[in-house]
Amino acid sequence: MPAAAPTPPPAFATRATSTEGSPVREILALTERPGTISFAGGLPAPELFDAEGLRTAYDTALTTTPRRALQYSTTEGAPELREAVAARATARGLPTGPDDVLITSGSQQALTLVTTTLIEPGDVVLVENPTYLAALQCFGLAGARVVPVPCDEEGILPDALDAIVARERPKLLYTVPTFQNPTGRTLPGTRRAAVARTAARLGLWLVEDDPYGDLRYEGAHVPWLAAHPGAEEDRTALLGSFSKIMAPGLRLGWLRAPAALRRHAVVAKQAADLHTSTVDQLAAAHYLGTADLDAHIAKVRTAYRDRRDALLTGLGDALPAGSTWNRPEGGMFVWARLPEGCDATALLSAAISRQVAFVPGSPFFAAHPDPRTLRLSFTTHTPQEIKEGLRRLGTAI
Ligand code: PMP
Ligand code: GLU
Repeated sequence: MPAAAPTPPPAFATRATSTEGSPVREILALTERPGTISFAGGLPAPELFDAEGLRTAYDTALTTTPRRALQYSTTEGAPELREAVAARATARGLPTGPDDVLITSGSQQALTLVTTTLIEPGDVVLVENPTYLAALQCFGLAGARVVPVPCDEEGILPDALDAIVARERPKLLYTVPTFQNPTGRTLPGTRRAAVARTAARLGLWLVEDDPYGDLRYEGAHVPWLAAHPGAEEDRTALLGSFSKIMAPGLRLGWLRAPAALRRHAVVAKQAADLHTSTVDQLAAAHYLGTADLDAHIAKVRTAYRDRRDALLTGLGDALPAGSTWNRPEGGMFVWARLPEGCDATALLSAAISRQVAFVPGSPFFAAHPDPRTLRLSFTTHTPQEIKEGLRRLGTAI
């Protein structure tokens, strides 16, 4: 009798089968139906893209340096773009040289590279609860155990860190301290200093993700956690993005990290995609060198401030009595909580049939999801459309 065939190994890795798809991306498909007013995806307003300025920048890259623009290039990124990123970070109060920076394919890739570099399967990652959905996916795919840090309306409670680090022995703390996704919250300066100090004392890596920091509509700028002096050995990775200030379709982001982490991240990036698109990097560098990005951001900020205000003005009439929501000073999101007994996921189907959408809050939680929560993005519609969207939401409820 022939020997029984050996049992084949499972077709897919556990880290793949145990990581859920993103509801934000799934809802995005539903909201592409014409006529839908979407508070769902965290998308920049497309009519505000500086398409003309970017067309000129691509023209320049392809006309003045076509052979370079279309060729393979270094993994670290185009020197002129690294310089421009370093200059902007330095101007924001964090002295940075071009060599401190790695250009990435969106800041999402920076997160993946840092995670690949630091996390072994089973390692513990600390996160805010709720936190950015695609960060949870990234940590899940790395086989990390994700543990929430106690937070309040302003974000992480620094005093809670010692106990949780003693108990869980985490490798890193991931935070979106400014206009957080999904809550819109901003961690105050004093707490940033305390978190940076505690992380340094405990030998914890700090991964600071800041795609929204330039989108402030009121209040004073709060320095990065990375700008707070920590221990002698720097264990801070700062992730930045051009998605919200230029255009997300460019897929351009960056990582500022100490030399050792950066070196490993470069190897991880070699294995992932060799390098970020050369022509996109050169076009972005031309744009930064010749157009006035800050004037463009100021224009975007003015429009988004009006849109945020329209959402905040009308939300009270749309949501049921007893709902609560916050008032973010910037970014793209308002975080709301429905009264006892309501369920945001159930509400979503009623909303979609009335051609309005949002994202239920539950998938953003690393633990203890709150089914009453929802995220409302206010960037992609005019104040008039926001008013109509809220009217539809009111009828759905
Ligand atoms: N981090 C956070 C907190 C985000 O909300 C997003 C997406 N908006 C990203 C990272 C990824 O941005 P990018 O387009 O630069 O990859
Ligand atoms: N980060 C954006 C959000 O949370 C979405 C980006 C995307 O997945 O399209 O909505």
